[in-house]
Amino acid sequence: MTEPEHIREYRDVLQRFVENEMPREAAAEWDRTDTYPREIVEKLAELGVMGLTIPEEYGGMGRDIVATMVVIEELCKRSTAISGPFIMATCYGGMNIVESGSEQQKQKLLPKLARGEILFAYGLTEPDVGADLASVKTRVERRGDKLVVNGTKRFCTGARYADYIYTLGCSDPDGARYKNLSLVLVPCESDGIEITDIDAIAQRGVGTTDVHFDDVEIAAEDIVGGESGWNNGWAMLAGPTLDVEKLEVAAMALGVGEGAIEDAWQYAQERVQFGKPIAAQQAIRHSLARCRTQLLAARLMLYHAADLANRNKPCTVESSMAKLFVCQEVQEVVLACQRVLGAYGCMTGSDMDRYVREALVFPIAGGSTEIQLNNIANRMGLPKA
Ligand SMILES: Cc1cc2nc3c(=O)[nH]c(=O)nc-3n(C[C@H](O)[C@H](O)[C@H](O)COP(=O)(O)OP(=O)(O)OC[C@H]3O[C@@H](n4cnc5c(N)ncnc54)[C@H](O)[C@@H]3O)c2cc1C
Repeated sequence: MTEPEHIREYRDVLQRFVENEMPREAAAEWDRTDTYPREIVEKLAELGVMGLTIPEEYGGMGRDIVATMVVIEELCKRSTAISGPFIMATCYGGMNIVESGSEQQKQKLLPKLARGEILFAYGLTEPDVGADLASVKTRVERRGDKLVVNGTKRFCTGARYADYIYTLGCSDPDGARYKNLSLVLVPCESDGIEITDIDAIAQRGVGTTDVHFDDVEIAAEDIVGGESGWNNGWAMLAGPTLDVEKLEVAAMALGVGEGAIEDAWQYAQERVQFGKPIAAQQAIRHSLARCRTQLLAARLMLYHAADLANRNKPCTVESSMAKLFVCQEVQEVVLACQRVLGAYGCMTGSDMDRYVREALVFPIAGGSTEIQLNNIANRMGLPKA
């Protein structure tokens, strides 16, 4: 696939960054101990890439969704631990505030996001609410000139290292479905927030958490979009940012799949059984050739949808198809690569062990495979179940 010169340059810069700053041993350690690699995240920010979703007038590099995906893909070839904070700055933060923030929020937050000085975590999922996000129970109430937030957000990636939780809450319990929700920016240092770690099998390093809000007071100006955002959260959430959210997960998956195939490809040429490299056995050759084919197809799907998003073209169907397809193919690819490594692919703490755990999560997180299938069928006009 031919890439424009500036995209090729981003790839080169990121590949050098990964080689110099993210050695395999470090990636394994972040995963094993679930340690946040703060220093490396700061070095990534020095490249300026945290501003890739932010217009230049707010201190960013100009909105470039394709380049954003390239950064995620390249980082995830080695580790998801650094792509997490990158996504928290560029997508959860930059994309959302550019798309939905008030002018005051843009001026206050975008320059800091672009410099990587602040990160956002996503507070959407709840203990009783997964795919059916419009049913969130977290309550956002007006009390005088303040807002008060009560409830629990589950599986909140990176909340411990974030500055704001981008929180979806019910702001009008008597209101109509989809018209009773607001998005609010909850500053993480607010009184009444309790964060609990969850030991997830994947996306370790940046950490998965539960976030409990107990009478957390925030300012009315923290409604995303200002006053016009009140009870308008669903429309904001279901807009272009959700399309990009699906692509972020697909880009992570593609990177992990590429990490796995590189390792299996090399191993198959080095490992000798029955007097020749296992790569000379037809079963292994075919398996690896099929993986390369699946990954090329996945890459084309991802960057086709990313290009549409970049040009502000409608891409809800294409981004659902990309999320669905890339994550499923990568799961197959990684499991095939694990088999190529034989027993060495079954050792805890190995790179392949990490790729397998990561690959298991992608079809679930960020909108499951079944939800993407529903989206595609609905958007393409099939009668609803
Ligand atoms: C590592 C990790 C990190 C995450 N990070 C975040 C985060 O930062 N912020 C955040 O808000 N969330 C986060 N999530 C949550 C994630 O987005 C949800 O797990 C996901 O949306 C699915 O919700 P659920 O797990 O509750 O599944 P459920 O919605 O309970 O679904 C369970 C199963 O039923 C299926 N199902 C549900 N409804 C339907 C339907 N209508 N038709 C067909 N099948 C259906 C699903 O596909 C799934 O297989 C994270 C999850 C993981 C694993």
